[in-house]
Amino acid sequence: MDIFSKCFAFKEDREVKEKGIYPYFRTISSQQDPIVIMDGKEMIMLGSNNYLGLTSHPKVKRAAIEAVEKYGSGCAGSRFLNGTLNIHEELEEKLAKFMKRESCLVFSTGFQANLGTIASLVGREDLIFIDKADHASIIDGCRLSFGSTRKYNHNDMDHLETFLKNADPKTGKIVIVDGVFSMEGDLAQLDQLLPLVKKYNARLLVDDAHGVGVMGKSGRGTAEHFNVLDEVDLIVGTFSKSLATVGGFVVGSREVINWIKHMARTMIFSASPPPSTMASVIASLEVIDEEPELLERLWENTRFMMTNLQRMGFDTGLSETPIIPLIVGEDLTAFIMSKMLQDRGVFVNPVISPATPPGRALIRTSFMATHRKNHLDKALEAIEVVGRELGLIR
Ligand code: PMP
Repeated sequence: MDIFSKCFAFKEDREVKEKGIYPYFRTISSQQDPIVIMDGKEMIMLGSNNYLGLTSHPKVKRAAIEAVEKYGSGCAGSRFLNGTLNIHEELEEKLAKFMKRESCLVFSTGFQANLGTIASLVGREDLIFIDKADHASIIDGCRLSFGSTRKYNHNDMDHLETFLKNADPKTGKIVIVDGVFSMEGDLAQLDQLLPLVKKYNARLLVDDAHGVGVMGKSGRGTAEHFNVLDEVDLIVGTFSKSLATVGGFVVGSREVINWIKHMARTMIFSASPPPSTMASVIASLEVIDEEPELLERLWENTRFMMTNLQRMGFDTGLSETPIIPLIVGEDLTAFIMSKMLQDRGVFVNPVISPATPPGRALIRTSFMATHRKNHLDKALEAIEVVGRELGLIR
């Protein structure tokens, strides 16, 4: 059989395109701001992970430009060999300090950080416990490792405990969760997870891609929110959301980070992130501490939208973050709603199975510190009209 036959037979995308509601790979021709340009038209952006709006912050942009001038556009090699610049090490030091941990290792993406961290730590005899709603990069990290994986029901501590209880006490164990679950914006209950992790002599890795810069009173993330920053063993993060560029990291104790540094194949055998991105993250960390009003504005906007969307009657799940889902049920409804909003000048992301459980398709809205009241009012007006037309609210 031709290995390509599935590609020739693949038509799901074509069917959706023919209906005129294909929502993916839409082209934006501007900065990732509250207003973006699509097909020459202004759209209110409710689909970005640029939570603090730092991708267009003058200090962050200037830092990237200056780093290009100083170091050039790339490092042409892996961190392991020729690709470690002093700016990589400077960021690792600053990020470890920012996250109040001993040590930090930078990767070229958050996805690679999860793959490399999990696969390097989990050996053949070890066990991984993951939440069913964990990010794809965690799932793939488990697949890449030689250990076995147990998937417990979303945020179900009893289910997790059953797995932990049944595990051989002699096996190495690690629980891995998203701090902020990326599709529905609800939180891993770190205050409940930690006692379990300790009771069964396991370790805890929190992927806080959507938490760093957003959660906690100084933006250190979900662990700060729960006041357990020094208890979580490892925190993985990304630079592709609040930290305004691309790349990833893991922080933890010196010995564990040193092990990952020498074992993580996604870091050792892949080129190091370009100096301009390192400079952008350093500047972003400074801005987070220098301009706490950004975090305040993000939360003002989040509370405003949450209150209004719930008042209209939308099901927003259990979100406690700037990711606010509108749960619509059927995949097709999510596609249609996204297109109807697009026609009214609002950009949102439809999310369908397998990124959500089947029958729980949703419109993922996400908010930024830089959204102004007039953007949010206009978006709410459009969402209300569309929600009524689709019979989602009355
Ligand atoms: N973890 C989570 C929870 C994410 O949402 C993402 C990005 N979608 C990643 C990891 C991967 O991060 P990156 O974009 O840096 O590869």
